[in-house]
Amino acid sequence: MDNDNQEIHESILDDTTGVPDLILLDEVSDNAILFNLQQRYYDNQIYTYIGNVVISVNPYQKLPIYTSETILNYRGKSLYELQPHIYAIADNAYRALRDRDEDQCVIISGESGSGKTEASKVVMQYIAAVSGKSKDVELVKEQLLQTNPLLEAFGNAKTHRNNNSSRFGKYMDIEFDFKGDPVGGVITNYLLEKSRVVSQADGERNFHIFYQLLVGASEQILDDLYLTDDIRDYNYINPYSVATEIDENDFTETLQAMEIVGFQSIEVKYVLQLLAAILHIGNLQLSEKEDESGNEFSEINLNRDLQIVSKLTNCKISQFQYAITQKLVETKYEQVTTSLTIAQARYARDALAKAIYSRLFSWIVDKVNESLTVKETATRKVMGVLDIYGFEIFQNNSFEQFIINYCNEKLQQIFIEMTLKLEQEEYVNEGMPWTHIDYFNNKIICDLIEKNNGILSMLDEECIRPGKVSDKTFLDKLNNRCSKHPHYQSKSMKEFSRDSTLDRESFRLVHYAGNVTYNVNGFIDKNNDNLHRNISQAMYTSGNPLLQFLFIEGNPKLASRKRPPTSGSQFKKSVAQLMVNLLAKTPNYIRCIKPNDKQIPEDFDISIVRHQIQYLGLLENVRVRRAGYAFRQTYAKILYRYKMLSMATWPRWEGDTKAGVQEMIESLPIEPNEYAYGKTKLFIRNPRTLFNMEEWRRMR
Ligand code: ADP
Ligand code: MG
Repeated sequence: MDNDNQEIHESILDDTTGVPDLILLDEVSDNAILFNLQQRYYDNQIYTYIGNVVISVNPYQKLPIYTSETILNYRGKSLYELQPHIYAIADNAYRALRDRDEDQCVIISGESGSGKTEASKVVMQYIAAVSGKSKDVELVKEQLLQTNPLLEAFGNAKTHRNNNSSRFGKYMDIEFDFKGDPVGGVITNYLLEKSRVVSQADGERNFHIFYQLLVGASEQILDDLYLTDDIRDYNYINPYSVATEIDENDFTETLQAMEIVGFQSIEVKYVLQLLAAILHIGNLQLSEKEDESGNEFSEINLNRDLQIVSKLTNCKISQFQYAITQKLVETKYEQVTTSLTIAQARYARDALAKAIYSRLFSWIVDKVNESLTVKETATRKVMGVLDIYGFEIFQNNSFEQFIINYCNEKLQQIFIEMTLKLEQEEYVNEGMPWTHIDYFNNKIICDLIEKNNGILSMLDEECIRPGKVSDKTFLDKLNNRCSKHPHYQSKSMKEFSRDSTLDRESFRLVHYAGNVTYNVNGFIDKNNDNLHRNISQAMYTSGNPLLQFLFIEGNPKLASRKRPPTSGSQFKKSVAQLMVNLLAKTPNYIRCIKPNDKQIPEDFDISIVRHQIQYLGLLENVRVRRAGYAFRQTYAKILYRYKMLSMATWPRWEGDTKAGVQEMIESLPIEPNEYAYGKTKLFIRNPRTLFNMEEWRRMR
């Protein structure tokens, strides 16, 4: 449905706001891209195309461009008709899915705080607005939309970069029926940053849900959970962080979302009990003891906190003593329990809290999927939306950053594969003359990390090697084996021995998006990610069915001695699956850019944006698009859309479609070097030509 007459048409090629498509730049350079984006940004045009890729610059302010009128306006338009918008990309993708049966995916990338999560919501909002309105469909849509506040409550937190930073990766397949109405979905979550549950960097917060619960829950709920409304009463919450009115309101929203998504009230109750239990576990006090022979051991103090934890988890106090202060070691022949020192017991306590939280999170995702499961198995079409943590470079980078950045390298690979490599191959396939354009291929870094003898497998090796292994021996191994690699740097290498930004506990990777120094402390542990078996056993004794379910491996009947896969290898596997999944779909890209480090509007920091333009490879992207043709489409589709532009083809063309397109295009005032005939498609060099053709169409 077109709405041409409802809108006042303004030329989108208005010189004062810069060009809407970077292919139209007079000069192609990083600076030209930079200044064009800047000019548009200050004109509140936050979106700009490179062909069918949308660049989005975070405005850090509410712009009036997400109204239902705007949605109506973009509905059914072609990409070149209106100012660039995510709606245009979403509309294109949606119509390809509905009318041409092409599965789609929207790949959103950019660093932390650049606007990925917001962009994914804009896509979902659009799809929800333009698809069917029957009661069933409305319910599914409501559920799909409500997964956002729900998962954000449990999976997002305030960080230095972003007050609402996603601390997990998310890929969501929205499933449609043959009419193009959403019927369900599947969410895949990737590696939650669970260390945040027990400690947060200065200026950062724990996951939103804890604040929501403490300041948003009714007195009755708080009493039932033995909680106060003062975040400073809990050791696991950074005492310098603050809860706000927003948290207060969000709690209601989270509970509502749980209800809409299909949680039963008893399940909600269990969830709240576990959240409270985690907070109280953080308050457990441990004491150091010594037996007659002078051996150290530890005990949890028998105080109110312990009683509360026991009540909330419905586990005996003795089970807690067993879980946290003992370690069960099983060999083929025997089982031995040893006592933990106070430091080890503290570590076990925190490991328990993190395990409860991260398993709870995965369970919530599973629950959501259960209610979004499509009942009938009729042919379905799928739109995947990927919103995964952006590239992270911190002062201190650990295993989590390593994993996150690895994932971003893989996404860059897909981008290269689809927009730089395949694009160039298409010219060859269509029989067009083509001079190859070079680009930096980050495959070499992916290989360094994930190949058989790469960093992840060296880490796994170190995790299973008997004998004295430590993060240090892991680093030694890396230094031995990677020192010749052009993207690996460490203090042990001659060239870097005087580099003051490196130390003997770190290695540095030259990522496509910048250099990151990783401190190896905790790598072995975080990769192993194993919980003492007695912790699982103790939790399995819980009278809280949810807690019992989360620690199902503690069931003595299920006693499996098999080593669980390391978290690195699990992640690698799920990323590989994701890649296969994405490559099977037609990709749509949103590349998000953060204009400044201060999270404020009207501030475009040239050096920060320039860096992103460079590593995102925008210049190469523009070059490839420009050296080639901005637009290509099969002859049949071109003819269908533009046959009205020529008397020769209007109202009907009976012959070969290519001949029809030739008749049509040659009758128009377009320079002959502006287009070229491929084997199956017409290629148009300059988007300006398309803007013109659209304009002529409108005037008919
Ligand atoms: P990311 O997911 O890339 O880390 P977010 O999508 O969470 O970043 O965006 C960070 C913040 O920036 C948001 O909480 C919001 O305040 C602001 N923001 C992002 N995109 C927009 C937008 N299109 N309009 C207004 N504000 C935005
Ligand atoms: Mg996010």
